[in-house]
Amino acid sequence: MSHHATRTLRELGYRLTPQRTLVWDVLRAHGSHMSAEEVCERVNRHFPNVNISTVYRTLDLLVALNLVRETLLGPEHRTFEIEEEDSHHHLVCRECGSVEHIHDPDLGDLPASLERSTGFVTHEVNVFGSCRACRESGTD
Ligand SMILES: [Zn+2]
Ligand SMILES: [Zn+2]
Repeated sequence: MSHHATRTLRELGYRLTPQRTLVWDVLRAHGSHMSAEEVCERVNRHFPNVNISTVYRTLDLLVALNLVRETLLGPEHRTFEIEEEDSHHHLVCRECGSVEHIHDPDLGDLPASLERSTGFVTHEVNVFGSCRACRESGTD
């Protein structure tokens, strides 16, 4: 567990159970988006008794502390990743489910013009479509 996360949890009076530490470590080692089921599966290699609701509770706690970011990549598709310093956005392929990161400069003035025209403010943009690999292997 990073010093940052350890300190934050301790300062806020949360007990650093091995399960909590492991959920964080699993996400960090993976380095990308994971579903709670994937996290649970890896945690279970060390703690077979940890169930999915414990994993969800831990993830919800880490999200509430801004240590983990939750992104909805579909109606039933909650994913989790370590929160980074710089905000990022997602390109989600509807065909293969791959997720690419883009960063603020890639959006140009989209956020500002969205806010001007619709009053809508967002810090995270998720774009759904077809990735390059799927388009190049596609027949249409
Ligand atoms: Zn794809
Ligand atoms: Zn992401």
